[in-house]
Amino acid sequence: MTTHWKEPAVCECGHTGVVHWAENDQPFSRQWERYSIEGFDGQGFEIAGTLTLDEALAQMNPVCPACGARAKVRAGPHKKVGR
Ligand SMILES: [Zn+2]
Repeated sequence: MTTHWKEPAVCECGHTGVVHWAENDQPFSRQWERYSIEGFDGQGFEIAGTLTLDEALAQMNPVCPACGARAKVRAGPHKKVGR
């Protein structure tokens, strides 16, 4: 099973985008998560293990198309639950 999630991401200027991530929640298999971002200029990536959404955003180093700020994007109002 792969679970897909979407969470809002917001720049300090107010520009918003969406973080997509998928995680492998199959028991007895390697844990991984795959992230990508929409609405910001950033690189998706995949890791073994888990990250918080803020850690994933830092990893993607997103650039805001509205104000040009780099890595000022934070998770939106809905936080990823648990670790
Ligand atoms: Zn911005």
